[in-house]
Amino acid sequence: MSTALQRRPAAVQVVDITKTYKVGSMEYPALRGVSFRIEKGELASIIGPSGSGKSTILNIVGALDRPTSGRVFIDGINIRKMNDNQLSILRNMKIGFVYQSFNLIQRLSAAENVEMPLLARTMEPSVRHNRALKMLKAVGLGRKVNKRPNELSGGEQQRVAVARALVTQPALVIGDEPTGNLDSKTTNDILNLITHVNKTTAATFILVTHNEEVAEKTHRIISIRDGLVEKEQRIHRLDAFTEQLTPVIPLSNDPKLPKG
Ligand code: ADP
Ligand code: MG
Repeated sequence: MSTALQRRPAAVQVVDITKTYKVGSMEYPALRGVSFRIEKGELASIIGPSGSGKSTILNIVGALDRPTSGRVFIDGINIRKMNDNQLSILRNMKIGFVYQSFNLIQRLSAAENVEMPLLARTMEPSVRHNRALKMLKAVGLGRKVNKRPNELSGGEQQRVAVARALVTQPALVIGDEPTGNLDSKTTNDILNLITHVNKTTAATFILVTHNEEVAEKTHRIISIRDGLVEKEQRIHRLDAFTEQLTPVIPLSNDPKLPKG
């Protein structure tokens, strides 16, 4: 299995990336040569003290920001030569984002929030809407599709955000402290949802977390300190089964809802 795994392109590979922020005349080296690879289907976590460079790494891996030097491969493609427009298409087609503060649009309903990433696609409005409804149902919010974010609990809002991240059927889902604002029971619920989606689809997940219990449920922990990889620990075996799966979201079998 391991040789087959090594030959496939990684979901994400970063090679010796650095990031230096310039603030006035000061230069701040946030990343000082970070390399790692994340296999397809893996659920990986990144931990490290505040200010160690975790969000900077996610922004680069998520094609939201460029490294100062080094190479970034998403699904085997070197994204360095892509222009901003190509990067935004890559993000919309391949990557889903979940944030600590949910980042939902307050004046929109749960369903409308989940539909947002599909607006860039050529798609019938009814198809788009049905896809959002199915996704909300898959995250357990089938009865709350018309609620606005402020009518939902923190855990429910994060479920909406997870549904929004998954509705495009991304190959890669990136979470920056996705359970950081949630109590321990809700953290567990969201983590169970994420592990379920990871197990039942080919989607790769990278989560930044401060929570050791969250990290220990992932396949692998990458520890960052002072802009460098301090260590990598394998926690759970990555099963080869993900190779056979296609990247589909675990939609319900409700025959009333159209597929696709
Ligand atoms: P973490 O997510 O691990 O808390 P960050 O990646 O956000 O760390 O930040 C790493 C370092 O880079 C910190 O010292 C932070 O202050 C600095 N930094 C992050 N973003 C910027 C920015 N836009 N401009 C200047 N410095 C930044
Ligand atoms: Mg951060």
